[in-house]
Amino acid sequence: MKYITEYRNKQRVEKLLDAIHAEATGSYHLMEVCGSHTHAIRRHGLQSLLPDQIRLLSGPGCPVCVSDQSYIDKIIALAGYKDMIIATFGDLLRVPGTEKSLQVCREEGADIRVVYSPMQALDLAKQYPGRQVIFPAIGFETTAPSSAVTLRQAKSANQNNFSLLSAHKLMPPAMQAVINEGVRLNGYICPGHVSTITGSGIYHVFPEKYNVATVIAGFEPTDILQAVLMLVRQINNRNFKTEIQYIRAVRPEGNPKAKAIMNDVFVRADDSWRGFGNLPNSGLQPGPEYAGWDAGLKFTIPTPQKTENGKCICGEILQGKKQPESCTLFASLCTPQNPVGACMVSAEGSCQAHYKYRNYETQN
Ligand code: SF4
Repeated sequence: MKYITEYRNKQRVEKLLDAIHAEATGSYHLMEVCGSHTHAIRRHGLQSLLPDQIRLLSGPGCPVCVSDQSYIDKIIALAGYKDMIIATFGDLLRVPGTEKSLQVCREEGADIRVVYSPMQALDLAKQYPGRQVIFPAIGFETTAPSSAVTLRQAKSANQNNFSLLSAHKLMPPAMQAVINEGVRLNGYICPGHVSTITGSGIYHVFPEKYNVATVIAGFEPTDILQAVLMLVRQINNRNFKTEIQYIRAVRPEGNPKAKAIMNDVFVRADDSWRGFGNLPNSGLQPGPEYAGWDAGLKFTIPTPQKTENGKCICGEILQGKKQPESCTLFASLCTPQNPVGACMVSAEGSCQAHYKYRNYETQN
């Protein structure tokens, strides 16, 4: 298929849509597992342009959303330690823990600072040698390499007052969990950013074992529509495989250097996911050589029994079983200004995307 250089060109969009409408003769349940895809699909009203028999679902692609509430509770507990600085991405601040959020902790006096990279957190540790600095490390394979580089630097500089509380997660176990949950699905729009690091090999199991079509897609309207067309063709022909639509950024082998450093610093571990519970070997924790920089080992962290808001259906939304509009709190008691659950807090969350662009599907 020809490489598209004008990603929002109207004629190209129309041409792709014509092909999709002509070729989509069956029933297609396509899931994206990337918050940036969720937002692009909603922002451009792509679902409304597609034939009714193509249904786009959102899955577990937002790193903040999939981080379990107990993880937030652990950071909150650590924030209460004497001489502690929590250096976090801003997205985590308003995610509700069992009793409160990091934002509330900050208002109560805890030293919680927003950083834009783990390296900035390490710089804080250098700036305050008499204090402990913890970076809550969230994200998929996309962000894990930068955490790995930071841990390496902290170790080589003997920066012992720095540590990282890892909630880094791997994409394939979540995609597998969606299938295990029995969600009706015949195609995955695979995440472009994750795939720049991992390459395409991590998805092969889905077409080979489950007859689920897989296409790695970019983030512009023509990228996503082209990926949809590629998926429709795989499904129509029952020729299930992994294809790369996002060829301007993703190579089949991924980024070997980033993978090497990630594998050197982190080891696989079981991890807890919002919506899925504990998934075996689905997370990354610092390896034994980095135990001194692993906040989970360095500090004793009491975890309160978590109680989630019974009306929030974030978990089922992340599983692809429900849409945000099915939640009784959506756009009434739960908004980006007053979020009840993680999926409304995060800029990559499904609920926020559906709220922000809630009129676009009908107007575009
Ligand atoms: S709308 Fe709010 S309460 Fe409902 S599922 Fe989404 S985040 Fe949870």
